[in-house]
Amino acid sequence: MNNQNVIKKRSKAYTLCYIAVAVLTVLIVGCIVAAIVIGTLNTGVNPTEYSLKINGEETDALKNENGTVMVNIDKLTELLDLTKSGEAATPKYSNSLGDYVKFVNGESYAYVRDAFSASEMKVNLPAAVTANRETCLVPLDTVSAIFSGISVTVDGPSISINRRLVTGSTTKYEKVEIRAKSSDPLSMVLELTPIMEQYEKFLNPADRDAFLILANKENPLGSSYAPDDLVDLKSMEGYGDEQIVNDGAPNSQMRLYAANALKAMILQLRSEEYVNIFAQSGYRTYEYQENLFEKYVAEEMEKDSSLTRAEAEEIVLTYSAKPGTSEHQTGLCIDLIDDRYNTLENPFTKKLGMEWLAENAWKFGFILRYPEGAEDITGYSYESWHFRYVGRYHAERITALGITLEEYLEDYYGK
Ligand SMILES: [Zn+2]
Repeated sequence: MNNQNVIKKRSKAYTLCYIAVAVLTVLIVGCIVAAIVIGTLNTGVNPTEYSLKINGEETDALKNENGTVMVNIDKLTELLDLTKSGEAATPKYSNSLGDYVKFVNGESYAYVRDAFSASEMKVNLPAAVTANRETCLVPLDTVSAIFSGISVTVDGPSISINRRLVTGSTTKYEKVEIRAKSSDPLSMVLELTPIMEQYEKFLNPADRDAFLILANKENPLGSSYAPDDLVDLKSMEGYGDEQIVNDGAPNSQMRLYAANALKAMILQLRSEEYVNIFAQSGYRTYEYQENLFEKYVAEEMEKDSSLTRAEAEEIVLTYSAKPGTSEHQTGLCIDLIDDRYNTLENPFTKKLGMEWLAENAWKFGFILRYPEGAEDITGYSYESWHFRYVGRYHAERITALGITLEEYLEDYYGK
């Protein structure tokens, strides 16, 4: 091999080296640039520092992960009265009501069971949870979505979580409930027309247990029971220019709260274009029940002359209350009627606004008192027209559970 050939070969090798170095440099620089660009996208152009105050105290319970604000729920247990249990990767937080939420490390869902649900519900979260022995980071949105009785306020980078206070004769914290809202059978939003504001205190009374009076065949009110805050529904026909009582209705009185709630419900019905529903029968005195009962017994005996008085009474008792046992004596219930039919019969009333009411009456604090298939429990056949005021708090729960007032008082209330 001569020198020239060696030089040629060498310069070829150098050229190849230069090219390789240039390609590598381009690749490395490219990778760095790409890493910076991707990194910037991933971490957010302007990572915001959030601060969190829990009941007014600054904590380090927050983390900003890829733009999702995560909160360390372990720092909230005291505020929310929660007890932590379970494995480090699947922590469970329970309250004294029997509600709980269970998170799973690395997963963007949680299991929620509230005292009113029959089973555990799976709830989707906006981001994955990070759970280890010391901390459990969950998306901040989860906290406001799952827990009630607290307020989560986001004001720019300042976030505060506060337990709500109930002010009464003594100031105390509201109970914190854990609820699987997405699984709530009543996923309806409480959207009432603005006119409802003036009625709100009647729809959702401050003393929420004040109207849980039970009157049925086993729990008669007695001949001397008469509420002292009765108002005539006709006197409420002033505002809104709405007639709410049917022409010729026999009983147009109700207790103050129930009467105002009914007025609001009828205003809402009118706005839903159910314009033919009117109040037919509200408060009934003991004497009225007695007269009505006697009238029905006489009618049955007239229809079938072979019936004894006792047999006729037995028939009447399937559709009318024995004097002193009618819920109408509470002044808290109403029979509604469609004035185009003027009859209280399920086939007529059910297909009209009553079906809308069965679903929506809870918003106004009413429940469908004698639902289909609950005769054994209530002692009454299905009445699509009879609505009972209990206040929104209990009405929502009774409706969501799909149970009767009897079952609610026996199995849920106060437990
Ligand atoms: Zn009735």
